[in-house]
Amino acid sequence: MTTALYLEDPRLLEFDATVLATESTERGTEIVLDRSAFYPEGGGQPADHGDINGIPVVHVRSDGRTIYHLVEGEPPERLSNEPVRGRVDAARRRDYQQQHTGQHMLSGAFMQVGRYPTVSVHQGTDYTTIEIESTTIPEADLDRVERLTNEAIEADLPVVAEWATEETISRFPLRRPPKVAGSIRVVRIGDFDCAACGGVHLSRTAEVRMVRLLDVESIRGNTRTVWKIGDRACAHYREASTVVKQLGNVLSAQPHQLVERVGMQEQRVRTAELEIRRLNERLHELIAERLLDEARRVSSTDTGPAVATGSFADEPKDMLRGVTERLVEVPGLAVCLVNRSGGLLQWSIGAGPGSAVDFDSIRGELLPMIDAKGGGRPPIWQGVGTRVEQAPDFLRRFRELAGGAPRTGG
Ligand SMILES: [Zn+2]
Repeated sequence: MTTALYLEDPRLLEFDATVLATESTERGTEIVLDRSAFYPEGGGQPADHGDINGIPVVHVRSDGRTIYHLVEGEPPERLSNEPVRGRVDAARRRDYQQQHTGQHMLSGAFMQVGRYPTVSVHQGTDYTTIEIESTTIPEADLDRVERLTNEAIEADLPVVAEWATEETISRFPLRRPPKVAGSIRVVRIGDFDCAACGGVHLSRTAEVRMVRLLDVESIRGNTRTVWKIGDRACAHYREASTVVKQLGNVLSAQPHQLVERVGMQEQRVRTAELEIRRLNERLHELIAERLLDEARRVSSTDTGPAVATGSFADEPKDMLRGVTERLVEVPGLAVCLVNRSGGLLQWSIGAGPGSAVDFDSIRGELLPMIDAKGGGRPPIWQGVGTRVEQAPDFLRRFRELAGGAPRTGG
């Protein structure tokens, strides 16, 4: 059996004790002491960390009578039946005392504001969640819960733990019925909240510093509220106000104008994107018209079917496709375009209705010329080659294979 020192003095972080037993487990070695200030995991509050004689304590659990301190590795022999010194990690303890005490206050405020009962709590490493038995909670009530709690923090109320029996428990204005029988520990926060609890709390509410609601989610027909509490709330405020300042500089706006300004920017981007798409379509049309004119000029002096070819450089990726899509609408037209970009040669081949292009029969000869990969399905095939310098030969050979007359330019 271990005397739980944290129950009487939540500020005690260093203590002397005697090792009663050490036990090997799958996760490491559990050390049992005659007395301990280490808080074991329970009631939604994570276990303390720290060390025993310099050996790191990574977890602490209790079976109700005995507290087990988990250390990694084999049982340290030098600890058997020895006096030892335990030290609780002060920063971690303070953080979870703030989370836990803040949670009591928030659960109390939820009852005061709208008789909203707390069904479960979770103290995570980033934020603390409180699940409330209610399908929805009006925003005005959430605001009041946050404000009431921050006012109670500012009032610096005392946090006091007392013991009650089944006979005397009815004298306490408990927020909810106790879960245990027999001797019951009651934690009072001034006249603000009263609950049965075996956890470690702060001594005064001012130490909670601040609570801030981050998010509200629906879960299993209840409402889960997500909170920043204590030093975490203050750090969150610093980070958030820095981001707001930076955003304000970028957008040349005051904080209260930011949301409207960002909305306007989004609208402008959407409009600009539509305009770019419209202009691109027009551009592809004009390029297609020019290539078609050239193709017709050449075929008027020749009896073969028309072939349109074009050579470009550093055009956007979808330009070849856009132009090819327009040209394959022309009956009988064979199309071959290339675009030098980033040391590679993009190619695009198209076959207008009734054109003589049979991609499967020409690919075996054409694609190796520029060391190309790619494919597609009628009427458009596309890909990329590496032998950029072969572009003129590639286009010339296409004109021959597709049956058009040779021409210059492109
Ligand atoms: Zn508690």
